Amino acid sequence: MRYDVIIIGGGPAGLGVAIKASERGKRALIIEREKRLGGILKQCVHDGFGLLRFGEKLTGPEYAHRDVVTALGMGAEALTGSFVISITKKEGEYFVATTSERGLRSDSAPALVFATGCRERTARQVNIHGTRPAGVLTAGSCQHLVNLKGLLPGKKAVILGSGDIGLIMARRLTLEGAEVAGVFEAKGEPGGLQRNIRQCLDDYGIPLRMKTTVVEVYGDKRVEAVRVAPVDDDMRPVSAGEIIPCDLLVVSVGLIPENELQTSLGLTLENGTRGVAVDQYMMCVDREGVYVVGNALHVHDLVDFVTEGAMTAGSDLGSGRERQLIKIDTKNLSYIVPQYFDVSAPAQKSVFYMRSPRSMRRGVLKVFADGVEVLKKRLVNVRPPEMIRLECAVAPVDSLEITLEEESV
Ligand SMILES: Cc1cc2nc3c(=O)[nH]c(=O)nc-3n(C[C@H](O)[C@H](O)[C@H](O)COP(=O)(O)OP(=O)(O)OC[C@H]3O[C@@H](n4cnc5c(N)ncnc54)[C@H](O)[C@@H]3O)c2cc1C
Repeated sequence: MRYDVIIIGGGPAGLGVAIKASERGKRALIIEREKRLGGILKQCVHDGFGLLRFGEKLTGPEYAHRDVVTALGMGAEALTGSFVISITKKEGEYFVATTSERGLRSDSAPALVFATGCRERTARQVNIHGTRPAGVLTAGSCQHLVNLKGLLPGKKAVILGSGDIGLIMARRLTLEGAEVAGVFEAKGEPGGLQRNIRQCLDDYGIPLRMKTTVVEVYGDKRVEAVRVAPVDDDMRPVSAGEIIPCDLLVVSVGLIPENELQTSLGLTLENGTRGVAVDQYMMCVDREGVYVVGNALHVHDLVDFVTEGAMTAGSDLGSGRERQLIKIDTKNLSYIVPQYFDVSAPAQKSVFYMRSPRSMRRGVLKVFADGVEVLKKRLVNVRPPEMIRLECAVAPVDSLEITLEEESV
């Protein structure tokens, strides 16, 4: 079948593109490998989703349900339980071959969107010594077992890493009757949102130990204990630490964009985000007609921004822009998305997403167009885990620079 756009991934990002594209009368096909649309939100039964977009505190499944109903109601089509096996390009058209229990199928469109989300780093990527017994899980797998399968994977847990999923699972396991001995973070600052530290740890009396990591796992068939030890700035243990008996080690040590399909197309990844470089409409810099949205582009902390970026892409599909790209210069930012700006596009408000490399009580963001300051925004409590969003109207320019400076209190 021929469509105006093929979207790979049916989470909030893919749904956001489908809604915007359908609103504009475009024929959209969503390809999703799981049986149901909704992405990671299906297993996030806690609330806190949609505060910015809907002004309501929704659970993950509620947020996803709204978008699924809207997208399908507007005529977007979905192929669920379908796995992409190849993507080829012929005469300006992308051909996507999929396999499913219904058999093989090929569909084409002039525009292709990657909305494949992200995946978790595993225990193997953080070099823990000791045995490899059952009972070592990533936080997302633990969440899947508890929230979707109704299984409690352990009675006494240790959580390694203070990313949001680990914090949320500390609370979830406690509510389900397990004991959480503590959350251990090797860095000097928590990796998750402040609100999650308060609501998931402080409210339940779960200890958070900074600059401490799990150095060894004990157990034969099943985890029996872990050794935790304080570490220096280079993450080297500074003492033998202590042994904590437990039957579950939950690893929450970061997320990486899911980008195998993109790299198989020859797209290159950026160091800061581990996603591709895009312009302000989320179109890939090195491939016309290919967009990357959501966590596949850069890991977001709020789903509302995932949908916002996805809808920006959906509003651009098929626009046929003759792009004139300039690279956005930055100072004191760990990354910025978009990395490039199309100066041929009509001047309108664009949204920039970025992270600070370190915490600051007060900061000031400045935008310079052709060397002239065009916007200044004061920020308080800047922290690397909390994404900074900046809206700015940029007229056609030859150079664009965005800087972050710490302000003395
Ligand atoms: C545990 C957890 C808690 C969170 N809590 C909050 C919160 O409280 N508030 C908030 O606003 N945000 C929260 N977030 C963030 C938000 O949920 C995510 O940012 C958002 O779901 C990302 O959307 P996405 O569509 O990019 O990715 P996903 O939701 O991961 O969707 C990607 C989809 O693509 C599919 N896919 C991947 N590869 C392929 C392929 N090759 N072929 C076909 N399909 C494919 C996947 O199966 C999946 O359905 C949380 C996230 C997590 C993980």
